[in-house]
Amino acid sequence: MTGTRFAAVLAEAASAGRAVGAFTCYDLLGLEAVVRAAQARAAPVIVLVGPGSFAAEGGDRLVAAFRAAAAGADVPVLLQLDHVADRELIARAAAAGVDAVMADGSRLPDDENLAFSSAVAKELRPLGIAVEAELGRVEGDEDLAALAAAGALTDPAEAAAFVRASGVGCLAVSIGNVHGHYASTPALDWDRLERLRDAGAPLSLHGASGLPDADVRRAVSLGIAKVNVNTELRAAYFGALDSVGVHAEGLDLRGLGEKVIEAVADTVGGKLALLGWGPR
Ligand SMILES: [Zn+2]
Repeated sequence: MTGTRFAAVLAEAASAGRAVGAFTCYDLLGLEAVVRAAQARAAPVIVLVGPGSFAAEGGDRLVAAFRAAAAGADVPVLLQLDHVADRELIARAAAAGVDAVMADGSRLPDDENLAFSSAVAKELRPLGIAVEAELGRVEGDEDLAALAAAGALTDPAEAAAFVRASGVGCLAVSIGNVHGHYASTPALDWDRLERLRDAGAPLSLHGASGLPDADVRRAVSLGIAKVNVNTELRAAYFGALDSVGVHAEGLDLRGLGEKVIEAVADTVGGKLALLGWGPR
């Protein structure tokens, strides 16, 4: 899927040996944190909206607000609906103006996943919207941090055939990575990742929260083009709320918001550094 803004941003970063950071945002404080960190490092970023956030009441307004806020940034800020299996929700996101959709058929048998991912890619390609699929299974919950053990790993030969047949523009791989908290010390399958490099589409790594810094760097050096981060940002957000406490003096909402933004931006900046984006 060439020709999308998403594809261009990933390709340009990869040509410089970098990966694009994708960060889940739940509100405008999170969005502001991501934009500030991205601008400080002249990094393009992807803002992820979870299917729960988008499907909830106000989800369309949230995406509209993110789009408006992103348009004012001096770096590319792309919007992606993350982990969605519902075709109607995908159509709504396309109408809302997202740049990419992650069509997650990883719970389906492989042939149904292929049919699903192909159909979504075919539907969104004319609109210039990129489609990311998942082959193998990245376990764990996106919105709630819980211990997770690695799911079914992505088979390199199957991945190449899947990309060819589906026409997707990005593939999420399972190489020992999980969403949420790692149940044991993460042990990524580097040999598998090297063999996945020839899959024919940029590869994404979900579940970067809790991976040692060296692992994230190594994944990028082995061709990971997009790295998704969620849990660590939520931990930073809640950490900032904890530091203020529930009986905040003076009911200073602006001060509270600024603390949240700084904490999340700090975490985003740290991840961007690992992905190859130095300070301006
Ligand atoms: Zn994910």
